[in-house]
Amino acid sequence: MSPSATTPRKSSTLQPPVPQELRERWAGLVFPGAKTQEHFSPLDGSLIAALPQSDAADVDVAFARARSAQQSWVGLSFGQRKAVMMRFHDLVLEHQATLLDVVQWETGKSRASAFDEVADIALTTRYYANSAEQHLRPEKRQGALPFVTQTRVHLQAKGVVGMITPWNYPLTLPLSDAVPALMAGNGIVLKPDAQTPFSALSALDLLYQAGLPEGLFQVVIGDAPELGTAIINNANFVMFTGSTETGKIVAEQAARRLIGFSAELGGKNPMIVLDDAPLERALEGAITASFSNAGQLCMSIERLYVHEGIYDRFVPRLIDEVGKLRLGTAFDFSYEVGALISAEHLEKVQAHVTDALDGGATLLAGGKHRPDVAPFSFEPTLLTDVTEDMLLCRGETFGPVVAIYRVSSDEEAIALANDTSYGLNASVWGSKTRAESVAVQIQAGSVNVNEGFTASWASTDAPMGGFKESGVGRRHGREGIQKYTDVQTVATQSGMNVAPPKGMSAEAFAQAMTKGLRLMKYFPFRK
Ligand code: NAP
Repeated sequence: MSPSATTPRKSSTLQPPVPQELRERWAGLVFPGAKTQEHFSPLDGSLIAALPQSDAADVDVAFARARSAQQSWVGLSFGQRKAVMMRFHDLVLEHQATLLDVVQWETGKSRASAFDEVADIALTTRYYANSAEQHLRPEKRQGALPFVTQTRVHLQAKGVVGMITPWNYPLTLPLSDAVPALMAGNGIVLKPDAQTPFSALSALDLLYQAGLPEGLFQVVIGDAPELGTAIINNANFVMFTGSTETGKIVAEQAARRLIGFSAELGGKNPMIVLDDAPLERALEGAITASFSNAGQLCMSIERLYVHEGIYDRFVPRLIDEVGKLRLGTAFDFSYEVGALISAEHLEKVQAHVTDALDGGATLLAGGKHRPDVAPFSFEPTLLTDVTEDMLLCRGETFGPVVAIYRVSSDEEAIALANDTSYGLNASVWGSKTRAESVAVQIQAGSVNVNEGFTASWASTDAPMGGFKESGVGRRHGREGIQKYTDVQTVATQSGMNVAPPKGMSAEAFAQAMTKGLRLMKYFPFRK
């Protein structure tokens, strides 16, 4: 971590201090590269721990180790893998206090936002532990010839999955993608974000305690372009979560090797408030959807389209509610909004706000850096009169900043919501039928009706991902586990070959086949 990413502050604000035992456990879980690097907390600049750094050659070895462990893991039954995951689920809940501390130490987020991560991995782990067998069981398909061809589709583990994850949900994102990959029989090599490796390591520690075979899940930390390329050069499949810009680099490299990849990328997510929206719930929903994790959430709302019929009741109340939000980074649940991750990120968020204000936008709430709260704390901010020439109009701010627009019809709201290169998440508030009709016209992978983002995210059985430049592939549901498999058709032929019977000329066979094909038109499709 660069020194500029932290502003030293009295370490007494960091509670509780990082225990030495935890530091040693983390260091033992990272691939043992030759160099080490110190990592500091964004809360006060104090040392969290020093970790080994890997290079490309280390990544090759990490893959070899994971591949070796995967050979026996893939041979276990679903029940055996499920037992490991269920023990992990229990350990996560049992050790949640430590996990919450670690997430807060390395991100500066509020404890409530950290708890979302713990709850999420418990939910996802339970879901895939219970459902993997159903999603991956061999499936009978219609054979070439009735009765004599038996055709089944098998989903085979890919091998070793390379994973690259960002800093904003350092516990949820590596784990919610790793658990289905593991349940499908794969090994993993993970490169977490250099700013936030500790949450994933803490979870990995619990996974090993739960019985994960040694070596199956490798973690490498180091220079991102070097390790990223090495991961893609070794992996059987790549799971990337991060910015659209880096996602395109990953996609190009994966394409060169003709390997599959899944990419969960950025968003500029709209919320539409129709004039028959339930006002109180919509206010609460707008606050949660915009300021959870201080807006550093891929599904976070950054554009708010409010129908003119409700605008003058909704917006003043929203300004009031935003003013009541408590900013803080204490290790308890007393604050709603934590800090931003780094000085660089604070600078980006501030640049979006300053640029908008310089260009004539109107500040309705917030707008200020709050070093009295934490070095990188920034107030929840509402702006209006935002125009095309401003950075925050189309660019992802990835902070607690929302632009509000007045609209006069559903059609206008839909057109504006869709006028973006992104398509990750959207939220629509209104009477059920009308809001659902608007929802299906929004070009986004998830649309929440009368909710901000949690209803779709927590629907773990349903796919989550992006339209347009927000991603390729899906996480969650059957889509989120089947992607970690290769599809194999096994067709077993009995009694006769799929060829002319002995002694029949090719011409006679063609004539018989033609009659058969004409007849088969009248048979319904049946597996
Ligand atoms: P980022 O810069 O793209 O980084 C994400 C990961 O990619 C980090 O581990 C980073 O490593 C690594 N990386 C950087 N350059 C690389 C390269 N050339 N090759 C391979 N890997 C490379 O993204 P970010 O700014 O940290 O994260 C925020 C973005 O992620 C936002 O756009 C957000 O919307 C998106 N996001 C999307 C989802 C989703 O589910 N759709 C979820 C969370 C976040 P280092 O940081 O160690 O350099």
